[in-house]
Amino acid sequence: MSFTEGEQEVTTNHGLEQQEFGERMRVEAQELQSELEKNYKDFHENPELGGEEKRTSGRVIEELEKLGIEIVGKEIGYKMGTGIVARIKGKQGGPVIALRADMDALPIQEDSSHELRSKKDKVMHACGHDAHTTGLLGAATLLKDLADNGELPGDVILLFQPSEEKTHQKESGSVQMVKFLEEHGLRNEIKAFFGIHVRSDHERGWVNLKDGIQFGSSGEIDITLKSPGGHIMNAYTEPNLNLIFAEITVELDKIFRAAGESKEALIASGRTNFAGSGYNVLPAAADSTFVVRIASERYREIRTDVLNTIQKVVADAVARHDPTKKVQIELTPRPGYRPVIHRDPELVKIADASVAGTVDDYHRVEVTENAGEDFCFYLEKFADKQIPGTFVCVGAANPDKGIPKIGHHTPKFRIDSDVLPEVSALHATLAVNALKYFENIRRPQN
Ligand SMILES: [Zn+2]
Ligand SMILES: [Zn+2]
Repeated sequence: MSFTEGEQEVTTNHGLEQQEFGERMRVEAQELQSELEKNYKDFHENPELGGEEKRTSGRVIEELEKLGIEIVGKEIGYKMGTGIVARIKGKQGGPVIALRADMDALPIQEDSSHELRSKKDKVMHACGHDAHTTGLLGAATLLKDLADNGELPGDVILLFQPSEEKTHQKESGSVQMVKFLEEHGLRNEIKAFFGIHVRSDHERGWVNLKDGIQFGSSGEIDITLKSPGGHIMNAYTEPNLNLIFAEITVELDKIFRAAGESKEALIASGRTNFAGSGYNVLPAAADSTFVVRIASERYREIRTDVLNTIQKVVADAVARHDPTKKVQIELTPRPGYRPVIHRDPELVKIADASVAGTVDDYHRVEVTENAGEDFCFYLEKFADKQIPGTFVCVGAANPDKGIPKIGHHTPKFRIDSDVLPEVSALHATLAVNALKYFENIRRPQN
């Protein structure tokens, strides 16, 4: 994917000028630190699950209104409808860039030793989406100031998205947001989408910026087996679904582990349920959901191959252990799998310079990860047209301050709050540098 507007060779001042702008934004964002901390504390203490972010979205609207930013859409999304689209108007006729933050929390009980912790039982911001919401509000302040001073070269659309953690496409917040953008003719206006994710599993300064595929495509397939069940005494003559599922799991692991190590495909199941089971009972039904992640440009073809392989492995395992032919097989790939997140090389250059100006002790790495992120739907909605974008992951652990590296979606998840102004500054810098870039493409200098 590259930009092909007009035939002119694009000459932009990659690097220094973009970095210097970031340094300016960083100084301005640091002045917002106490306000950012206040918002972060409020969001962190009051987490809401996907589709239920009523309070959070109310607070966001309040802050945007305080800044005098136009709210283009609200109550967007599945369930309660909590998504918000806002627009900061810059130079008239300039390009349009979109920045995205997600707002949802997870059904996890936060570690009780945390000083700053959730006030809700079994609901916690364990992925840092509270930092994203806070960070984008900070960026809104910076960008509105620029707009008021006549320094914003175009418009910036702010997307406060619900429900990122839901894997079903129907519930996925970004799908609902894209639908809104399409229905209001905004998606066609947007030149590029940017998103930022804080990472508690990496130290501050770590930033993953790689051209091409950043996150693999992700989807699930449900495998259900039904059998007559019965007494365990008949385990050698009647089908035992424990044995069959064990074989399916081992066989799929054997086939896909090698590919998974090269990050191209990963197939694994975190849970298998057995119905009507007991220690001396042959279960009557079993089902498992296998996650299918593919980090390749050819993910559509590979996915078809993967599903065919799964089908064959299941059929073979059943045939081997069901001489009576009583076992019924159901294979259901869940609809709405996520495409890969593909980063545009030109936008990665802009991001690199923007990060250099805004992130302390910048240490760039280039890795493809088999994580899922619904940011992918902004860039590509299945057969729909592609819009360039870049998703930037920024390290947020700080062992020197007693905040060790820790996995996402865990009760001990924490970030260094000094990362908040970095997120705000980086969002604002990405937007302005990208607006200037698209402006140059449109009006190349002779
Ligand atoms: Zn998450
Ligand atoms: Zn997340």
